[in-house]
Amino acid sequence: GSQPARQQPTSGVAAAAAGSAAAAPAGSPEAAQATEQVGGQSGGRSLDPHLRRYAQRAAGMRASEVRALFAVASRPEVVSLAGGMPNLAALPLDTLATDVAELVATEGQSVLQYGSAHGLPALREQICDVMALEGISAHADDVVVTVGSQMALDMVTRVFCDPGDVVLAEAPSYVGALSTFSAYQAEVVHVTMDDEGLQPEALRQALDTLAGQGRRVKFLYTIPNFHNPGGVTLAVRRRAEILDICARHGVLVIEDNPYGLLGFSDQTYPALRSMEADNVVYLGSFSKTFASGLRVGWALAPHAVREKLVLATESATLCPPAFNQAIVSRYLARYDWQGQIKQFRAAYRERRDAMLAALDQHLPPGCSWTKPDGGFYVWLTVPEGLDTKAMLPRAVTQRVAYVPGTAFYAAGFGSRQMRLSYCYPTPERIREGVRRLASALEAEQEL
Ligand code: PMP
Repeated sequence: GSQPARQQPTSGVAAAAAGSAAAAPAGSPEAAQATEQVGGQSGGRSLDPHLRRYAQRAAGMRASEVRALFAVASRPEVVSLAGGMPNLAALPLDTLATDVAELVATEGQSVLQYGSAHGLPALREQICDVMALEGISAHADDVVVTVGSQMALDMVTRVFCDPGDVVLAEAPSYVGALSTFSAYQAEVVHVTMDDEGLQPEALRQALDTLAGQGRRVKFLYTIPNFHNPGGVTLAVRRRAEILDICARHGVLVIEDNPYGLLGFSDQTYPALRSMEADNVVYLGSFSKTFASGLRVGWALAPHAVREKLVLATESATLCPPAFNQAIVSRYLARYDWQGQIKQFRAAYRERRDAMLAALDQHLPPGCSWTKPDGGFYVWLTVPEGLDTKAMLPRAVTQRVAYVPGTAFYAAGFGSRQMRLSYCYPTPERIREGVRRLASALEAEQEL
């Protein structure tokens, strides 16, 4: 039997944006029910012989809608506007190949060995130079190298969240972060965004309401720049206010910023961490500015937190891969990495332009969408009466794929939304994909 998601009373949070994960307290009947579902059921009997053995937290581990989509959307005849894969075409692969061979020949004994859990010291220094571009001044000791920022998210949640603790996140929010929170049985309360990002007033109300209910709120998880999936950026004048609200409520800020250097205009946005050092954990990544397959990211944290993150790394992976860190470190030392980022920005900007123009030209009346100034994503709202998850199989028949909005909420919202990404397909394919999407939407309206 399926158990409906437990709804969190969210009177203070804008109703349209508030939701709650189906995180049930450990040992509760809900938790047992949810564990049943993980195994999958057939005629009331589970197919999974290990069902009774799983820890309660395994109930929070479910395949994301994005993952289920990848198999279908990767067929060549389908234009996938679904995935968030960076476009690596501009990377100088030949030179990199020579360089990696030289690295093995000259430093193989150390780079193929275990390394420190904290990360390669030279790379941590270089990471400080990267963050300086966003106004952050930090000491390399406070940087912890991680296996992508995804692992940093996992470790931060492991270090801070007990089952039932509350985590605040934008409405909508990054699907990978939501699945991490759910795996640790934290409960997500969403806070409304508009075209200028997270709304300070909604944040204040959510925190007041939760305080009134005696809930423990551990942190605000926020993606200030070129939001995934929202496509919006937090207005500069809102930044100090949001930091202030969190500090007053004793709530830590987790600033996730993988797209910060991929803006399309000359406007620069100060990182939250550049404005407040003691109450912010900043997460960065080389996935979007260099190569996602190397899985190198980092956390910049206050001293005490940094110690916990290093210990969490030791128990999770012993250390981040020394070889991959050395490749990134060489790349930063020997290449014009800032010039490379400019090339990435130009390529993504061209694709963004193609998508926005095609949406303008082809989509039926009643649709609206965000206009990203950087990053990979457009957040599209379709006319009332349509359901983006229900129509996805029919869109795929029309050879176009996207991610339904429901993937980006803990529970119950986003059925009129979808995420479109323009990072990977060529401008020509993007135009074709949007044409197909438009006819899928029109067909849907006639159903
Ligand atoms: N945070 C956000 C907002 C992301 O979009 C992504 C990747 N799509 C990640 C974190 C994880 O990135 P990685 O682990 O590759 O650094």
